[in-house]
Amino acid sequence: MNLADESDASDGAVRIGIDLGGTGTRFVALDGEAVAASASFATPSEADATAVVAFLVEQVRAVASDRPIAYIGIGASGPVDAAGMIRNPDTLPAFTGVELRRPLIEAFGVPVTIDNDAVAAAVFEVRAGAARGFASTLVVTLGTGVGVAALRGVQPMRGADGQHPEAGHLSVNGADAPCYCGRSACFEQLVSRAALQRSAAALIAQSPAIPADGAAVIDQAAELARAGHPGALALFERFGTLLAAGVADLVTVFRPDCVVIGGSAARFSSEYSEAFQRRLSQLEVYRAHPGVRFSAAGDFGGAIGAALQEPRAQA
Ligand SMILES: [Zn+2]
Repeated sequence: MNLADESDASDGAVRIGIDLGGTGTRFVALDGEAVAASASFATPSEADATAVVAFLVEQVRAVASDRPIAYIGIGASGPVDAAGMIRNPDTLPAFTGVELRRPLIEAFGVPVTIDNDAVAAAVFEVRAGAARGFASTLVVTLGTGVGVAALRGVQPMRGADGQHPEAGHLSVNGADAPCYCGRSACFEQLVSRAALQRSAAALIAQSPAIPADGAAVIDQAAELARAGHPGALALFERFGTLLAAGVADLVTVFRPDCVVIGGSAARFSSEYSEAFQRRLSQLEVYRAHPGVRFSAAGDFGGAIGAALQEPRAQA
């Protein structure tokens, strides 16, 4: 990894990054520019407050592996309030409303910042990933939900209340996709990796000759598409077209120089990028079309971004 601007780590201390997702939780220990250690776990969904704090403390200790810790950054799925409290009963029920910062500060004696996971993923892209060197960037992460972050330089833009924009809940015209937020056509319900997985599972279920393979159903659908299967081709065509509709609205609002599509669905971009680019080029976004790049962050980009985040005051 080649960071544009690296901070102190010459005393052997590591920066810890935690990517707290709706499905998986990833930990990294960052030694300067290098990932010294990493680990990943299923996100606890039914544990009580004591257990989730114990989980974080134990895994931070394990990933740091006896080295001093300089900082702990957490990127969490969904809303995080100005005090660093997770407010996401829909995809992080066990962590919602649980005081995490104070016990981590007490356990390790270092600054702890909790922010949204789309912000952490975006910090990775502008500091170490596909968006280095751009004056303004829009990062859209397609995971359990859809996360959106807009950045001026390396600084994430925030709403009037200091929180990140919940732009995964903008509505896509003409779609029918009920969402837990009460709207009926959310971007997040259409182009998340979870949405792609649902439609891939439905497609595979129509082909009794192919046993569905859990999380690998998207790979199975991609294989069918490459073999020219009309249903699989239509699935990725629809995904790319809907993704373009949402990204076009976001580009219209935020007017970035660079767009990065990340999250676990970025891995399948070769199946839908043509439909995506075709539809995006048809939509007026009121500026020159910015270049769109698919993230090469891999599974730990969000955790690395969380470790690289500037500490924030979160009283
Ligand atoms: Zn919604």
